[in-house]
Amino acid sequence: MIKQFAVFGNPIAHSQSPTIHTAFAKQFQIQLHYEKIQVDVGAFAFAAEAFFQRGIGANVTVPFKEEALCFADSLSQAAQLAGAVNTLALKDGVIVGDNTDGIGLVRDIRDNHKQSFVDKKVLIIGAGGAARGVILPIAKENPQLIMLVNRSAEKAVLLAKQFSPFIEVKTDTFERLNTVFDIIINATSASLSGQTLPLSSHILGTDTFVYDMMYGAKPTAFMHWATTCGASSVDGLGMLVEQAAASFAIWHGLFPKTASVIQKIRQQL
Ligand code: NDP
Repeated sequence: MIKQFAVFGNPIAHSQSPTIHTAFAKQFQIQLHYEKIQVDVGAFAFAAEAFFQRGIGANVTVPFKEEALCFADSLSQAAQLAGAVNTLALKDGVIVGDNTDGIGLVRDIRDNHKQSFVDKKVLIIGAGGAARGVILPIAKENPQLIMLVNRSAEKAVLLAKQFSPFIEVKTDTFERLNTVFDIIINATSASLSGQTLPLSSHILGTDTFVYDMMYGAKPTAFMHWATTCGASSVDGLGMLVEQAAASFAIWHGLFPKTASVIQKIRQQL
């Protein structure tokens, strides 16, 4: 019988996940069916329950990552600390919730873009679900500093406090921020609406690596800002494919090659 997988979201039509997982499966001659399931807000648990009568794994995207956290029977540490689940796996009759967004980002920056986090000063912009999910995986890479800045400054302070039993996360405001960082990660949704962030060009050094979690056919507004200030930047397409690869490994116990899949999805954007 063909193994059944799905991605839940709303909207979901744009999702590249079926293409990515089908490409991964081909690498190992695995037969699978991966579908997109659009669910009404408030109906996630019901839909997921129905799916797991036949399916063995699912990805979860906006706006159901928090609901998936409650739906899972047990949680990985990554999911607990991220406060969100993007991967559900049925194992021995138990639905396990995990979060692969953070490790996806780290693998893209560290392995694909060859940027080590060790001893680096890292700035994360944003305090939503995406920022929350990447803090612990970045901390595990031993950076010198993790600084968080967010439009609603109090949210950044609260997030840093939630991580304080495990790791030190510093916070600042857009207005005060003016020292150079080695790695700058945009984890806001500002680029979605083409908005720029009130950042000083003083935070960019000659070797600063600038990363926007958002991706698209064209460079994002944030990437445009970096270019205008003389820095090079990359988008988050690699993170998307790497988080999918980590989900694939959870479900199949095999880690797929990602470079050709990133290239393929890039051509389709
Ligand atoms: P959330 O809605 O949880 O958080 C949004 C964040 O963006 C908040 O910190 C919010 O600040 C900030 N923000 C929104 N608009 C602006 C603005 N105009 N100026 C400054 N800050 C702003 O979203 P997520 O955290 O889930 O997602 C954030 C981004 O990450 C999205 O673009 C998403 O596409 C991307 N992403 C990419 C992934 C990938 O695989 N490449 C995976 C996951 C996410 P405030 O608190 O003040 O409202």
